[in-house]
Amino acid sequence: MKKNDSNIKKAIKYLNNNECIAIPTETVYGLAGNAYSDIAVSRIYKLKKRPRNNPLIAHYYSINDLKKDCEIDNNFIKLYKKFCPGPISFVLKLKKKSKVSKIITNNSNSVAVRFPSHPLTRKLLKKINYPLAAPSANISTGISPISKQDVVDEFGPKLKFILDGGSSKIGLESTIINLIGKPYILRLGGINSKLIYKLINPLENKNKKRIKIKVPGTSKLHYSPGIPVRLNAKNNFQNEAYILIKKRIKINKNYFYISKTSNLNEAAKNLYRTLRKIKKNGYKKIAIEKIPNINIGEAINDRILRASKK
Ligand code: AMP
Ligand code: MG
Repeated sequence: MKKNDSNIKKAIKYLNNNECIAIPTETVYGLAGNAYSDIAVSRIYKLKKRPRNNPLIAHYYSINDLKKDCEIDNNFIKLYKKFCPGPISFVLKLKKKSKVSKIITNNSNSVAVRFPSHPLTRKLLKKINYPLAAPSANISTGISPISKQDVVDEFGPKLKFILDGGSSKIGLESTIINLIGKPYILRLGGINSKLIYKLINPLENKNKKRIKIKVPGTSKLHYSPGIPVRLNAKNNFQNEAYILIKKRIKINKNYFYISKTSNLNEAAKNLYRTLRKIKKNGYKKIAIEKIPNINIGEAINDRILRASKK
């Protein structure tokens, strides 16, 4: 406990100096900096090698903090009450007097926000008086980190501090929903899309226009292990790593289980770890068996589809 408190103190010192640090969240580890500071957020883009047109999510402690920067509506309140803190991000309209750095919004008047539930990061957010911009703590287009070691593997000594909060419980990024105009999901993730649509009635919004937002994270190559990925594979070829979600009787050194009994939450949690392990073991190709497209399986399929893009 004491160790956590002193680590949080250290984290705050770095953040107050406009440095970026890694923070644990229930989805994946984030590369965090003061979302009100152009200097801090520029450092995030530089370290991650992230294109400047790909906006960042701002992480808040509470709805009261958020209200200083963003407009909220009934849909937001319903979703907030049900799922926050948790793995859901909202794209909202910025208030004119918002202090959020224009760099993280790509100069637009909207911003993506989230309330992470990891207890250490909540403690940290409670103690600072600014939100944290925090994209996943990996080099752009690669696999998101779910442990301190993953972050070390990504940045080495270039990153001065990692707040260690164990391994991420969910292991996949947040669901992102756009709440400007007619609500719609921009990226599948930790909260199932059906649960979200159950709460917000699309009929209420039938006169509203769907405002199209460009989301770089939802297109082309992303979440990539850097080697070819083959989907819906019934078998693996020689020397091809084979990711499975159900235990086989046959023992094969190239089999990598992300779950033994098709448990999709377990599979989500183990996916990125397994992709990293396969890469570290020197494989040149990956095959993945068909993943049921239900619950968090939707988000798993979204990520592996993108990982398979060239
Ligand atoms: P990451 O931080 O790597 O999990 O990615 C965050 C995702 O949120 C990116 O794909 C962004 O494009 C998306 N995003 C962040 N801010 C906005 C915004 N203002 N409007 C639309 N999408 C956003
Ligand atoms: Mg990312």
